[in-house]
Amino acid sequence: MTTPIDTEALVIGAGPVGLFQVFQLGLQGIHCHVVDALPHVGGQCAELYPSKPIYDIPGIPFCTGSELVARLQQQIAPFKPTLHLGQQVSAIERLPDQRLQVQTASGSTFRTQTLSIAAGVGAFMARQLVLDGLSAFEGKQVFAEHPQPERWAGQHLVVAGDGDSALQACLAAIEGHQAAASVSLLHRRDQFTAAPELITQMREACAAGRMRFVAGQPTGLRTENGRLQALELLNPQGDNEWLPLDVLQTCLGLSPKLGPVAQWGLAMERKQLVVNTENFATSEPGIFAVGDINTYPGKKKLILCGFHEATLAAFGAVALLRPDEKTLLQYTTTSTLLHKRLGIA
Ligand code: FAD
Repeated sequence: MTTPIDTEALVIGAGPVGLFQVFQLGLQGIHCHVVDALPHVGGQCAELYPSKPIYDIPGIPFCTGSELVARLQQQIAPFKPTLHLGQQVSAIERLPDQRLQVQTASGSTFRTQTLSIAAGVGAFMARQLVLDGLSAFEGKQVFAEHPQPERWAGQHLVVAGDGDSALQACLAAIEGHQAAASVSLLHRRDQFTAAPELITQMREACAAGRMRFVAGQPTGLRTENGRLQALELLNPQGDNEWLPLDVLQTCLGLSPKLGPVAQWGLAMERKQLVVNTENFATSEPGIFAVGDINTYPGKKKLILCGFHEATLAAFGAVALLRPDEKTLLQYTTTSTLLHKRLGIA
């Protein structure tokens, strides 16, 4: 457990709406910390459709998911939010002084006066390979999180998956000073969803004997002295075979898990947080919910709707944080105060 971080505002979720929440809080003169389970910002835009076009962002006739995320990062830069990536928020509790204590699964603690939940459809978590007994080796020989070369350097590596990240992991593991002793790509059939250029590179590496592809469905494990020795496979011919390994890296994609959001005691309807449309406050004072995670009459899960919600939630937050100050509507075009906050001379 690290020293608690005290803040006026914490945002859970660095998707497009969480990022725009940072911007709107910044305009109100509120610095914030942002936590996301993913190791990068952008939420669904970055994770599910980085190269696909979006046509309904006001004033931007066309941009891809990753271009929108890059523009939002540029827009929030003047407010210097502190990002805490790769951390899943696991618990929220009310302190006796009415602040909210927010904890992450990796041990960070925040004590915040206001909380904006922009958790989308939940935290994106790596899909696990479901096999009896395999979970005992997680974090030691079996890894589902983002591939890291130090795990497999000099080891016999099996990568399970058929997408970009699986093939990229294999190609990374066959070269450099952290190369694996051997690399096997495991997928149930010789068909891949990865980008065509990665498939070509993988096939070339197989042809050159630098790695191999193994078709099969894992059905069991062989262990010895507490170590995972091999996976048992059912191959496409219907035969069982053993695939020896030191390290198993699974790259089976991510799935959003609502998980902890549902356990925080907030009013919910059909897995979404109920908010009022005046300031997008939830049933708990000081907790706002914006973007795909909230629900109200007429709710539409669109980025531009989330941007509106984040704007009004920031007005709600500043009203709580500065009850004695009158919050006037100011325009970014003409307000010298907003120019100062935006760092414009
Ligand atoms: P998200 O983008 O889901 O981000 C939420 C973030 O919160 C995630 O990064 C997640 O890891 C994090 N998180 C959740 N729980 C926790 C936790 N406990 N701890 C830490 N972090 C957590 N919308 C449009 O307006 N126009 C379009 O053209 C469009 N196209 C789309 C195409 C596809 C294929 C998909 C899937 C969606 C599309 N959408 C589109 C919908 C749009 O992407 C969503 O409305 C938008 O991403 C919602 O943003 P958000 O910030 O609320 O949530």
